[in-house]
Amino acid sequence: MQPIALFDLDNTLVDLDEAFRRWAEEFAGEHRLGSETIDWLVALDRAGFPHRELFFAKVRERYTLPHPAWELWRQYRRRMPQLVRCRPEVLEGLAELRKSGWRVAIVTNGTADNQLGKIQQTGLAEAVDAYALSGIEGVRKPNAALFQIAAQRCGTTLAGGGWMVGDNLTADIAGGRAAGLRTIWIDRGLWPGGDHQADHVVKDVLQAMEILHRKKGDSSQ
Ligand SMILES: [Mg+2]
Repeated sequence: MQPIALFDLDNTLVDLDEAFRRWAEEFAGEHRLGSETIDWLVALDRAGFPHRELFFAKVRERYTLPHPAWELWRQYRRRMPQLVRCRPEVLEGLAELRKSGWRVAIVTNGTADNQLGKIQQTGLAEAVDAYALSGIEGVRKPNAALFQIAAQRCGTTLAGGGWMVGDNLTADIAGGRAAGLRTIWIDRGLWPGGDHQADHVVKDVLQAMEILHRKKGDSSQ
């Protein structure tokens, strides 16, 4: 059976934080808000608001914007896919993995339009065998069902093991482990405590790909 490697999208395959800052700069400009707004938006994002509608309710309240929160959120979802980039070396890394026999898929939480837009605009749609989006499937990481859907789309199952790579200790690492996968955590220095059970810890997805290459042919290791 071909080994399977699953990857998170945001801040794993793409640098969402960089795109978010560019969006914040545009947003501040469009709404004629001061440049200190950019840092405030970034800080609010870092504070980890789980749902963008709540995030935009806070933004609207602070700046007394006339637009409803859902409209600001809709505009955000339309713009973000155009701002997100995937580094060429990451696309090449995925191609190398597939060339050496891995099946590769993306497993991501988020709304269908935003996540699908990012996957298509960055070229990732063609760089992987499959993807599973919570906004389409109706189930979110860390639920094992989303990992299973990704494996099925790769023409395999999780029964033979496999790997999950991501930056979120709950959704990606605990979720991946619960689905029977080995895990590689991308530690971006943002998790307080950082208690984890990941098999490997790296700073960048390219390092995770190097580990996978070394494990080639023995996905159960
Ligand atoms: Mg992530």
